[in-house]
Amino acid sequence: MSSATLLPPDDRPRPKPLLAARAGRLEMVTIRAFLLIPFLALVSAVPLTWGWGVSWVDLAIAAVFYTVSTLGITVGYHRYFTHGAFKANRAVHIALAIMGAMAAQGSVIGWVADHRRHHAFSDREGDPHSPWLFGTSPLALAKGFWHAHMGWLFGRDRTNIDRFAPDLAADADIRMVDRLFPLWVSLSVLLPAVLGGVLTLSWWGALTGFLWAGLARVAFQHHVTWSVNSICHMIGDRPFRSRDRSANFWPLAILSMGESWHNSHHADPSSARHGVRRGQVDISARFIWVFERLGWVWDVRWPTPQRLARLAVSGKR
Ligand SMILES: [Zn+2]
Ligand SMILES: [Zn+2]
Repeated sequence: MSSATLLPPDDRPRPKPLLAARAGRLEMVTIRAFLLIPFLALVSAVPLTWGWGVSWVDLAIAAVFYTVSTLGITVGYHRYFTHGAFKANRAVHIALAIMGAMAAQGSVIGWVADHRRHHAFSDREGDPHSPWLFGTSPLALAKGFWHAHMGWLFGRDRTNIDRFAPDLAADADIRMVDRLFPLWVSLSVLLPAVLGGVLTLSWWGALTGFLWAGLARVAFQHHVTWSVNSICHMIGDRPFRSRDRSANFWPLAILSMGESWHNSHHADPSSARHGVRRGQVDISARFIWVFERLGWVWDVRWPTPQRLARLAVSGKR
């Protein structure tokens, strides 16, 4: 082959940049409000009202909203939109994007772009939330834990949508759901107040519904999802080969609805099931299975024994 067929270095197509324009002042204020207001509600509500200011009605509403918005993140934002673990009809496609927004972790396009960048650079320079970016001394790991858990959310860097989520940016329905993010978050914290008021026929019920099933539930769920980014890249078993420090952390399996089987996930990102071994509860995978039976989703990428054997760390369990 003659050298004339090679493009000179400057004309080679380059990958698009990792980052887009930095976040503006208003965006940063909004993000801090979304993160800190539910958190302050949680830390003040627990000691102030536990035992007398929370009712079974509040906890029941919280459980329903926790389940809906967590599935929006795990089945929707993560396994479907980020990794394409299955195909879905249009109604499910849109419903999953709205349910995910109700977790108040960011609108769908930005969330997916960040998470695809996490997989592209996991635990290396370029990963938006690795706990390993500062070193391995105890102090560096404490800093890394904070950064991976929630510190990264306060940074002004923005993942480049053109590079990491052009498919979603080209989808008119998803762009609409994405733009309406503040509406979905408002509904997520206000509907529990309405339900609390209607079910108890009292303003007090509306207030405690808002506080517990609205704000405190959002904050609690934030920390469960963020623990997957922090704890599940630091502590746990690593039965599968992956290029990073991702680990399976069983204590969070139920609350994270299967997402804490994170080493299995990094080894096989597009698999619809993360808890792939016997006894590894994965509630999200069970819901995908039900949706498949109902005919709402199809082409589900279920793991096969042969594939799992190939991905397993050789010589270990
Ligand atoms: Zn990860
Ligand atoms: Zn993932």
